[in-house]
Amino acid sequence: MAMDIQIEEEQIKHLLQLLEQCVNMDSPSKDKQLGDRMADWFAKQFAALTGGTVERIPNATYGDQLRCVIGTGPRRILILGHYDTVWKEGEASKRPFSMKDGRAYGPGVYDMKAGVLQAIFALRLLKEKGRLPADKQIVLLLNSDEEIGSPTSRAVIEREAERAEAAFVLEPPTEPTGALKTWRKGSAHFILVVEGISAHAGVDPQKGVSAIEELSRQIQYLHALTDFEKGTTVNVGVIKGGIGANVIADHAEAEVDVRIMTLQEAQRIEALIRGLKPTLPGTKLTVTGGIRRPPMQRTEATGKLFALAQRIAWEELGMDLRESGTGGVSDGNFAAARGVPTLDGLGAQGAFAHSPQENIELSSIPSRISLLARLLEEC
Ligand SMILES: [Zn+2]
Repeated sequence: MAMDIQIEEEQIKHLLQLLEQCVNMDSPSKDKQLGDRMADWFAKQFAALTGGTVERIPNATYGDQLRCVIGTGPRRILILGHYDTVWKEGEASKRPFSMKDGRAYGPGVYDMKAGVLQAIFALRLLKEKGRLPADKQIVLLLNSDEEIGSPTSRAVIEREAERAEAAFVLEPPTEPTGALKTWRKGSAHFILVVEGISAHAGVDPQKGVSAIEELSRQIQYLHALTDFEKGTTVNVGVIKGGIGANVIADHAEAEVDVRIMTLQEAQRIEALIRGLKPTLPGTKLTVTGGIRRPPMQRTEATGKLFALAQRIAWEELGMDLRESGTGGVSDGNFAAARGVPTLDGLGAQGAFAHSPQENIELSSIPSRISLLARLLEEC
């Protein structure tokens, strides 16, 4: 069967005009004013293109979140996207939207402004063809703080996920094949503070206990917790401590990143890190932090959802869609942890997220739109 739902050339042109507009509007996560301006823009486009309604969820700290809704059926389907980018104000004027050799460039084009527009155009396409599923209500949630860990949108995402039958995430697919993600590791973050006893390193070294020596021992232990076979990694990525070479340091600290495949493993590692004991008498350890994003575990229901995507891609688009996973986290982690089957990586195909070389592949836009539209119909 050939794809019977396909975006027209004219609509692609329209999408690219809108992509230029939104890429040229900076939307750093931590800037409420710029975030709200971006929210205004997406709210307007969603309403104009799909005829759906937009509920604005006010946010005191970052840009307002948008809950864009279309359809009135009893079955809720969730699409997750974010309009913030990692780029600071002024980035878009430094390197505005551009197109060259079949690719589009600019801050946030790949992560993930093109992905959000693709979803809006997929909904538009279903509406235009009279094929919005009557038994479904589709909620496109656009948040403002994904790139800083979704501190203020997490609860909104979880609430929506609990009511949904399936969740589709518009993050970029796995490069270079366009593979979808059916699992992501979870992440945890800890700060380990070590207190020792300071002394003059030359005059009376025996009176001191070095916090730095203690920290170095703890780092050896922490790194040894990495188990690649299990998918568990522990990385001390930042260390600080001491005030001078001739002073025995009474303070040292480390930032620790942990990635795990299952919640059970997360709890096991968390208990080990919280239970760290000093090895040098006279030192004291304090651990703060914890699990930031639960793992997005591949369930049987996720597998079924992926099989549907794979069949649509193969039979209707002639695409060999692959399944993959990653140690990187997204809002898909929060959704999946609420038990909803989650397919991630449905956004634009391209490369170099979070880099000035960030770009999308223009030729992939129509097929990604068709794939999402058909998934929304068939799921
Ligand atoms: Zn993203």
